[in-house]
Amino acid sequence: MTKRELATFEDFRKARLDDVGFIVMVDASRSPVVHRLNGRCISADNFRNKMARGGAGKYYQVDSVSDGIKELGASVCKLCKPLKPEKEPWKR
Ligand SMILES: [Zn+2]
Repeated sequence: MTKRELATFEDFRKARLDDVGFIVMVDASRSPVVHRLNGRCISADNFRNKMARGGAGKYYQVDSVSDGIKELGASVCKLCKPLKPEKEPWKR
């Protein structure tokens, strides 16, 4: 089991602090996408909004990009490029 759902803001916050693995955003209207955990695509406001709308989307933390692809059928984000090993300047 390599994917964990980030069901609460606390889960989300902890995952980003630990900075281990990647985030898969699963949206009702889009196919799942793997993102860098602390990439620019992922924001606390976004997470809160999604949770507030209840069932509009789910967030999963996965150990690796390939786990996201295998377990959730995710595609790889073209904005934050989670396959690139380098830390990016927008990372806080
Ligand atoms: Zn992204």
